[in-house]
Amino acid sequence: MEIYKLVFSPIEVNTYILADQSNDCAIIDCGCYDSSEFEELVRFIEGKKLNPVLLLNTHCHLDHVFGNRFMLEKYNLKTLLCADDEINRKKAVQHAALFGLTMTEPPEPEGFITDNQVIIFGSTELKALHVPGHSAGSLAFYSEKNGCVFTGDALFAGSIGRTDLEGGDYDTLVKSIKSKLFVLPPSTVVYPGHGSQTTIMKESMTNPYFS
Ligand SMILES: [Zn+2]
Ligand SMILES: [Zn+2]
Repeated sequence: MEIYKLVFSPIEVNTYILADQSNDCAIIDCGCYDSSEFEELVRFIEGKKLNPVLLLNTHCHLDHVFGNRFMLEKYNLKTLLCADDEINRKKAVQHAALFGLTMTEPPEPEGFITDNQVIIFGSTELKALHVPGHSAGSLAFYSEKNGCVFTGDALFAGSIGRTDLEGGDYDTLVKSIKSKLFVLPPSTVVYPGHGSQTTIMKESMTNPYFS
């Protein structure tokens, strides 16, 4: 599996494109905000000759769902997310307005993901891990075979997600990270929703929230 990262929107969210050997690809958190960013994403996908088949959301804060409607309409993708974050999907337009940003409501997902559910595209398997605390329906997507995990806004390099938004809870987030992420193999590469990549070993040893 190839992993590509594009950074989108004034909020600088990481959009990951996971390409299977079959050239089918899954997109995690489509954050493209305006027409030039949509075009950039399409150019990228076409340049690599990829076939988008799946759109996954780690959670539904506005910055992670800006591009959902566009991607669904362009590629007729299957969208999956956690039911506990439906509240954020439905309020994304309202939340965007608080940032002075405009967007259309992200469409309803095709289905909901539950803890430990295995998601398959092409010949690639991702295991969904429910990691509430930043939002109630936050998910991480783990690929054991590729030794990587996509953590959304739960865990960052040297930090953790904010917990002051609706559905957020600090103790819950710390517990989620310890019980769901820090138990992964230490060499697992962490791809967060913002900022640069890191590893489970580095975060469990040096992240100031855990030392
Ligand atoms: Zn968030
Ligand atoms: Zn975010």
